[in-house]
Amino acid sequence: MDYRFAPEEEAFRAEIKAFLKESLPVGDEDAEQGEEIAGTDAQWQFARGFQKQLAAKNWLVPHWPKQYGGNDMGIMEQVIMREEMSYARAPIPDIFGTNMLGPVLMLYGTEEQKKQHLPGIASAEVMWCQGYSEPGSGSDLASLQTKAVRDGDDYVINGQKIWTSNAHRADWMFMLVRTDPEAPKHKGISFLLTPTRTPGFSHRPLINMAGQHGFNEVFFEDVRVPVQNLVGEENRGWYVGAALLDFERSGIGQAGAARRNLDDLVAYARQASKNGGLNGKGEAARNKLAELIIESEVGRFLAYRVATIQARGEVPNYESSVSKAYLSELGHRVAATGVSVMGLPGQVRPESPRWAKLRGSFVLAYMVSVGLTIAGGTSEIQRGIIASRGLGLPRG
Ligand SMILES: Cc1cc2nc3c(=O)[nH]c(=O)nc-3n(C[C@H](O)[C@H](O)[C@H](O)COP(=O)(O)OP(=O)(O)OC[C@H]3O[C@@H](n4cnc5c(N)ncnc54)[C@H](O)[C@@H]3O)c2cc1C
Repeated sequence: MDYRFAPEEEAFRAEIKAFLKESLPVGDEDAEQGEEIAGTDAQWQFARGFQKQLAAKNWLVPHWPKQYGGNDMGIMEQVIMREEMSYARAPIPDIFGTNMLGPVLMLYGTEEQKKQHLPGIASAEVMWCQGYSEPGSGSDLASLQTKAVRDGDDYVINGQKIWTSNAHRADWMFMLVRTDPEAPKHKGISFLLTPTRTPGFSHRPLINMAGQHGFNEVFFEDVRVPVQNLVGEENRGWYVGAALLDFERSGIGQAGAARRNLDDLVAYARQASKNGGLNGKGEAARNKLAELIIESEVGRFLAYRVATIQARGEVPNYESSVSKAYLSELGHRVAATGVSVMGLPGQVRPESPRWAKLRGSFVLAYMVSVGLTIAGGTSEIQRGIIASRGLGLPRG
């Protein structure tokens, strides 16, 4: 087995690194990056500007075909790009449009839908959000209740979505709605495109435990959407919504982010121990950090494993659940170690930049990283998949 990347892949990595070094601020300002969705208006503006820079290089949707503004890039190049971007804490582009809706439209959209929506995503002009989860339907998504009833040339939508990241900033939402309440639950769902600035569409912020506004509750009161906004066939939306399989889903971004946080923490611990600032916890910190560096390498290879399966043209199965559960939980362990190694000085928030060590980022990461073990399928759901599909255990 050869673990090395090909020379042209290494050359691409060097090109990305050089671009990131040139385009991203360094030092304290890099706290402004990375949190584009849950961040402040300034962070959001920075992220939008950065996305436009990527778009100008055809790097915003590198995995799309050239005819739609992409670069025909393969899985391994996507992995390299995502790993370097996460390590550099570059704002990750609007994944809802670029990674989810765009490829779905290429598969299931009409020519008109492609013409209407793909250019706006590829140029970072139009932002999307994902309306799947509802108050009673998260892990058991197929039980969703938001209804769309056909009325002439429109659907009329009533109901509620929840945890909708970015609904307060997005221009459009792609959503799952129930169009046939009588059918078995997976067979009465449709996939609709809904503008967010339309009568009857409203949202309320949900503030996370780090005090950030990233997700929302969204309400639909007689929202009218033309039938042309249906993607795929009516009542077959479950299969449209699940067709997110052919792009990179290794979790490499979380591996890159964990490694960057660890490298920062190691640098901090080195400096602090020289100054006698680890309160006698130096030996324990050394061991813990060494352990986590090993774990972050394990996580990186789990992500590469998923990418390699995809690069062979196969669809990863339980392997992506292993990577998702491991890397999201690793992110939390790294943050918890940061909080413990830094002690009280690490808890000063970035609002006091003079005193905040590492910009208070570990306290923030400690709170934010919990959400990543839930979003996109909880750790328990991933473990269920690993048990049944990976280990062949009977269903619980
Ligand atoms: C940061 C963040 C961003 C999000 N962004 C979006 C978004 O943009 N759009 C969107 O539609 N949704 C979004 N979500 C919602 C996310 O998809 C759901 O939170 C997730 O699917 C879990 O659903 P739930 O919250 O309803 O929890 P539930 O499904 O009610 O689960 C509650 C608990 O029960 C456990 N559980 C449930 N079923 C099982 C089972 N079968 N076996 C074992 N344990 C089980 C779960 O693991 C969990 O611990 C986001 C969530 C987070 C945290």
